[in-house]
Amino acid sequence: MGALPVFRWRLAPDGYATRRQLRARGLRPGGQDVAAQLERPRRRRGPLVAYLYRVDLAKPVRPMTPARWAALAKANTARRTCPQCRRDAGYVIPPSLGTCVPCAHPDPAESLRSC
Ligand SMILES: [Zn+2]
Repeated sequence: MGALPVFRWRLAPDGYATRRQLRARGLRPGGQDVAAQLERPRRRRGPLVAYLYRVDLAKPVRPMTPARWAALAKANTARRTCPQCRRDAGYVIPPSLGTCVPCAHPDPAESLRSC
């Protein structure tokens, strides 16, 4: 300690995050040492210090196994499948529409062409 770079509170460089910020992204420090610290001066007391970790060295909280990836892919496919035409829309079906966009808004140009 002591040789750590110290940054002012709102001037943390990119690529560093506090433990809490890592956690919000599903990451954990993963055994790395504190890479830098943030200091926020406070009146009368010592500065408030937050420790920063390097995002590129952080590890996922729970490593993904092939089974977990498969389950995730399956869930995503289900969310992308239009209940009306049963096609994979290629994006998550918006709850506001309930179907894929072509089902919800048939293309007027398309219907004109078929006339
Ligand atoms: Zn559809």
